[in-house]
Amino acid sequence: MSRILLEVRDLHICYETSRGCVRAVDGVSLVIYESETFCLVGETGCGKSTLALAIPRLLPPNARLLSGDIFFRGMNLLRINENELQKIRGKEIAMIFQNPMTSLNPVHMIGFQVAEVPATHFRISWREALLTAIKQLGKVGIPDPDLRSRNYPHVFSGGMKQRTMIAMMTTCKPSLLIADEPTTALDVTIQAQILKLLHELKNEYGLTLLLITHNFGIVAEVCDRVGVMYAGKLVEVAEVREIFENPQHPYTKGLIGCVVARKKSKTRLNQIAGAPPSLLNPPNGCRFHPRCSYTTPKCLREEPQLIEVCRGHLVACHNYERVG
Ligand code: SF4
Repeated sequence: MSRILLEVRDLHICYETSRGCVRAVDGVSLVIYESETFCLVGETGCGKSTLALAIPRLLPPNARLLSGDIFFRGMNLLRINENELQKIRGKEIAMIFQNPMTSLNPVHMIGFQVAEVPATHFRISWREALLTAIKQLGKVGIPDPDLRSRNYPHVFSGGMKQRTMIAMMTTCKPSLLIADEPTTALDVTIQAQILKLLHELKNEYGLTLLLITHNFGIVAEVCDRVGVMYAGKLVEVAEVREIFENPQHPYTKGLIGCVVARKKSKTRLNQIAGAPPSLLNPPNGCRFHPRCSYTTPKCLREEPQLIEVCRGHLVACHNYERVG
């Protein structure tokens, strides 16, 4: 096994709202190894994007970090000062956001925006930074990059904007690239191209990829290991093959069931009954119990802890032996 690149320890984050504290991430611990692709999967609102934003400390102002630590190469990102963090953001840890339409600045040319990253992190002239940007735009598949670097974002398609974001975030060849639903806002055909591009860059640069998605189909295609989140908690972690062949948590089983059913049938879709709970006031015990068909009285009383059920496979369920 490779060395640990990132370690999240017992992280608790909430959002202050007029209705109370929304506990978006509630006691999550995980490790990500060097050079792997780790997918964080779950329904919208389960806390996966909040967890991703906490790593480079980009949480919105109403988010409150209650407790926990995030170690990157042994350095606690939550304890270093803003100057130290600026040296890491974009250079060592880069992030691609969900919607490329709103990630680019509409009043600056594409080349300028990409060049700002190497100009900030390396001791090079602006001209060298621009040449680096043009080269990187070509690398991510922007045709005629010299000419297109002088375009403004509004003339780019959604796919080209996301390629631009990928160019921007990979010019410094970061150790960790966080991609938060990078294909959600794109057409299906473009989605496949963007995933292929991320996979190629990951292999070429040897970077580690943390991919956030709600799509188990994407997981099957690109991931090495998977973490499944539900209602602010991590409920299962395993290697990708293991999780598809031997899911131990009823929620994971349900998510995979939806993908398999969609492939088998053109007319009927499987679904997980019910809806995720409100994180303002989550249910006692196991948070999945109102939707779970394996519930026992213990599930209503006691919160299950994440335990290792076989090598590298962790699950938080009192009844995992009945599920698997
Ligand atoms: Fe279902 Fe109980 Fe397992 Fe929760 S702990 S997933 S309610 S069986």
